[in-house]
Amino acid sequence: MTDSLQRVAPGGIARDGLNLKRCYGHDRSTDWQRRIFTVKDELLEAAKAVREKAYAPYSGFKVGAAIRSAAGIHVGCNVENAAYPEGICAEGGAITSMVAAGDTEIFEVLVYAEADTPVAPCGGCRQKLAEFAGPDVVVRLAGADGVTTETTMADLLPAAFGAAQLK
Ligand SMILES: [Zn+2]
Repeated sequence: MTDSLQRVAPGGIARDGLNLKRCYGHDRSTDWQRRIFTVKDELLEAAKAVREKAYAPYSGFKVGAAIRSAAGIHVGCNVENAAYPEGICAEGGAITSMVAAGDTEIFEVLVYAEADTPVAPCGGCRQKLAEFAGPDVVVRLAGADGVTTETTMADLLPAAFGAAQLK
């Protein structure tokens, strides 16, 4: 956990950049804002549901990931292997699903795991996500208490290696 990970109240969302605010008392959000929250909630539910399908007989640590692109929501779960290095992460599975659906641009990412602290994408997955997600793309970390952390690709992977370096 780094200082760059912004803590938010359980179930709450505060994005100053998008001027979004969850309203607990008087709901003054616009229809547009409510639609955004609906999408975000769908992402949370999708990641939570797919986590249940994770194949993690060795670690017992199940993770679900949900990615939103133009085509919709794509999910993945971790799949372990008796040959440990051959296991794959939830984020990688979600990326594969997105590309198979014809999309190559990530709008938003949510990772769901149940642990004492928020679970962020591993280093390898940060690179995989950066292939399709710009520095401003929001990555939310969630668990049994809902979304507890919100960060961005730029914070997760500063000075990322990318296609620009290959030119
Ligand atoms: Zn990973």
